[in-house]
Amino acid sequence: MLSTAYTYKDYNKTIKRGFVSDDNLKLWSMDKRPSFAKHGYLNWRTIEEWETATEKKKASTKKNRLERRGILNTMKRERGCEVCGMTLQDFMGKSRRTKENKAFMTDMFSRMIDFDHLNPKEKSFNVGDKLDRYKWDVILKEVDKCRTACKLCHDKHSGNQTRKVK
Ligand SMILES: [Zn+2]
Repeated sequence: MLSTAYTYKDYNKTIKRGFVSDDNLKLWSMDKRPSFAKHGYLNWRTIEEWETATEKKKASTKKNRLERRGILNTMKRERGCEVCGMTLQDFMGKSRRTKENKAFMTDMFSRMIDFDHLNPKEKSFNVGDKLDRYKWDVILKEVDKCRTACKLCHDKHSGNQTRKVK
């Protein structure tokens, strides 16, 4: 069928994002802005436009995710483990390190520290899992429900609360 023959009712039922019509247009999404009446409007693009826009979207999502992760990692490094008190300095130890090795250890330290929900009942999601999906202020609100804990402390704590010790 031609793109014009499809309506909002087909969206996600007979056709999905990425579907190519007989007149060679590719479906982007349904636009639900109020200006498109009450039902929404199927947003078709040429294949080339579709590919370009998809690449752009992917790149911006990735950039956004990396920025957010960077901010969260800085918080982790500043706070260290709030349970056992381990700091980045403790983790680095006293040995001399090259610049590259310092950067590596700093990254490892960020990976060692988790955001651990103080009250599991208040947990809506894992902070690190939704960097692409939720608004930044929603993520920060979730961070506020957490303390920082290194993997060992986190494991011990979660083990006490919910998980059985493996
Ligand atoms: Zn710890």
